[in-house]
Amino acid sequence: MKRPPLAELLLPWYAEAGRHHLPWRQNRDTYRLYLAEIMLQQTRVETVQPYYQRFLARFPTWQSLAAGDLDTVLALWSGLGYYARARNAHAAAQRVVQVFGGEFPHALEAAMTLPGVGRSTAAAVLASAYGQRQAILDANARRVLFRYHGLRGAPRDAANERRLWQLAEQETPAQAHDYNQAIQDLGALFCLSRRPRCANCPLQGPCAGPETAPAVASPPVKPRRPAWFLFARSDDDRVLLEQRPQRGIWGGLWALPWFVPADPAAEDFTALQQWAEGEYALHLEIAAAQPWRQHVFTHFQLDYRVIEARLQAFGTAETRSKTSLFSTDQLATLALPSPLRRLLLGH
Ligand code: SF4
Repeated sequence: MKRPPLAELLLPWYAEAGRHHLPWRQNRDTYRLYLAEIMLQQTRVETVQPYYQRFLARFPTWQSLAAGDLDTVLALWSGLGYYARARNAHAAAQRVVQVFGGEFPHALEAAMTLPGVGRSTAAAVLASAYGQRQAILDANARRVLFRYHGLRGAPRDAANERRLWQLAEQETPAQAHDYNQAIQDLGALFCLSRRPRCANCPLQGPCAGPETAPAVASPPVKPRRPAWFLFARSDDDRVLLEQRPQRGIWGGLWALPWFVPADPAAEDFTALQQWAEGEYALHLEIAAAQPWRQHVFTHFQLDYRVIEARLQAFGTAETRSKTSLFSTDQLATLALPSPLRRLLLGH
């Protein structure tokens, strides 16, 4: 079946019904566009908006972010997840300032040398900021193209990946900025991954999707890992945290000490006390064990239990350097992972 070019259907719909009010659509400054693209990766628009505003208020330019300290960047990102994005944004700003004279590069290849910037992110910024005809292939565009053209098989296999980029290039018109926003909005509002709203979609009719959708396979079951988090408080009610290594899960964030129990079902926490003594020179009195909870990471599901304890002794100078005690006021200024933020601060 010969289908009309997507732009013919999408652009009039976008002009009338697109999400023009979004804060990152009010200004075509490269820094603001870039920041929105990064924050929106795997994160919902509603979640991103307050983070975006707060981040911009503190770091309004490439220069200010490049000169900022990483702990402040991570604290502003705290709760948004996927913290490698924050570290990459900081490093990307430094590269923009030091290598590209404070200006986002104009060439796609040069833009893709920034840490954490892939082809689609680079293209989105270039199309919006500089008016270039650049095709994007983010998760929304990918779903719409896949379904509209009736592709089959796994969306991420190599042949489909090549075909999707070909289609993205072919469909993108000269007004790439508007088209890119339109396909993102359509994907977010109608072409949902599990239950596409085909009946009201402006592409309904020529779209092959209603026969093939949902084209996105159920996600594979993630492996599960158990953990106990040590929630130790001093007599003056300060909480013991350690800063995670920069690389790996929750890199650079402050977290409760993370213990992997040999017997997760145990109700005896002697192993935790021995570990805390050996690792941090802590002497603990166990106070309570909270119920099991879950937190889903990209590659696994964490089943964790928070074990509350009173600190009876707090280490030697050497072991203390791994950890710190924080008052409630201080906790609010730290970069904390979202499940621990909820636990410690209630939001
Ligand atoms: S008609 Fe259905 S499958 Fe096609 S783009 Fe719209 S929502 Fe997606």
